[in-house]
Amino acid sequence: MDLIVQKYGGSSVADADRIRRVARRVAEARDRGSQVVVVVSAMGDTTDHLIALARQISPNPDARELDLLLSTGETVSVTLLAMALREMSYEAISLTGAQAGIHTTSVFNRAHILRVDPERILRELDNGRVVIVAGFQGISEDLDVTTLGRGGSDTTAVALAAAVRAKRCEIYTDVEGVYTADPRVVPEARKLNEIHYDEMLEMASLGARVMQNRSVELGEVYNIPILVASSFTNAPGTLIHGDISMEEVREVRNKVRGIAHDLDVAKITITGVPDRPGIAAAIFESLADAGISVDTIVQNASTTKVADLTFTVSKGDLEKAMLLVRPVAASLGAGECIGDPELAKVSIVGAGIQNAPGYAARMFKTLADAGINIEMITTSEIRITCVVSEERVLEAVRALHRAFELEKAEESQGDTP
Ligand code: ADP
Ligand code: ASP
Ligand code: MG
Repeated sequence: MDLIVQKYGGSSVADADRIRRVARRVAEARDRGSQVVVVVSAMGDTTDHLIALARQISPNPDARELDLLLSTGETVSVTLLAMALREMSYEAISLTGAQAGIHTTSVFNRAHILRVDPERILRELDNGRVVIVAGFQGISEDLDVTTLGRGGSDTTAVALAAAVRAKRCEIYTDVEGVYTADPRVVPEARKLNEIHYDEMLEMASLGARVMQNRSVELGEVYNIPILVASSFTNAPGTLIHGDISMEEVREVRNKVRGIAHDLDVAKITITGVPDRPGIAAAIFESLADAGISVDTIVQNASTTKVADLTFTVSKGDLEKAMLLVRPVAASLGAGECIGDPELAKVSIVGAGIQNAPGYAARMFKTLADAGINIEMITTSEIRITCVVSEERVLEAVRALHRAFELEKAEESQGDTP
């Protein structure tokens, strides 16, 4: 018998009717003869509401308490979906992350899955039940409830698919698949039939929130094909996979595959940093110790033995990062620390980028023609990212989508610039 994992996101289970609708879809898979493990997210915007509620009580809520609070969102959904299936006379059981054997690190709010012990899930499947697992949550060595970072239910789903050796992991959401850009920002964005793990990982890491990046990483490591599709329609979705044949095709085509953007960017500039060894280490060590991840870093060396150091963090980390960096900068004899929360980044992604310098030029020209100032630039083998003002970023996404002709079917896109 086929074993599949299906995951339904928050908007797919936003109210009782939608939960019933999801139950019907799960029942259909069951009727087709598959064993089904279902992962669900919290209903609608529950996670956002819980975070806002916590902040009303404490501006900087304790991370452990916050995780236990947030985990309740998913716990509500799994129980209701199990009840809906039982109402339809299907055997179903709901499990929390801990009951499902999802063991994580104890880094609250962004725990990583260490291992999955699937015995309970497999036993329930053997008993003919649909197993419904709360996404986004797990349990630490100390038996504390942890959460996996925003969008973490995707990672729960792929990790379970690997652990139970499912044939496929199906991610059902509120769009019909992975598009060349966020379809809510670029109406003419095109749905991709398939995308390689590497490209999807870049898209996800650069802000395309349709898949949590950790989930794509796991999919690649365990070679789990991931189908992203709509929970509201039966349109064919996007298959994320790693087949060689596709890689060959991509090499020939040498194209940009998509545009990703991320609004969660803030920057810190430290002026007049003395030009001597160990300075960057001192600054970034303090941030690393506090668990703050730094993204883009730019240092402009100058002829005067001092440099300006600029780096980005997420908007939520800005205040904390400034508090940490100010005293370090002062002790090093640097100048000012200036924070700017109103930034965003826009990226072009595609395996072909590495071989074609023309892509960078076309990207910068497009932004220049639109009068959008580029604050910082970073590149990797398969992407180019520009940090721009938050106010202009959606315009940048649309302009780049047009410039790279991503609305056209791949065969008819322009040649390598
Ligand atoms: P879920 O609650 O189902 O997990 P999410 O809100 O986390 O759904 O992710 C789906 C959203 O991701 C879409 O509504 C869309 O606005 C956004 N998105 C961003 N980039 C892309 C992209 N390239 N393709 C598809 N959706 C994207
Ligand atoms: N409910 C969590 C969130 O909103 C996890 C998820 O939806 O994947 O981030
Ligand atoms: Mg999501």
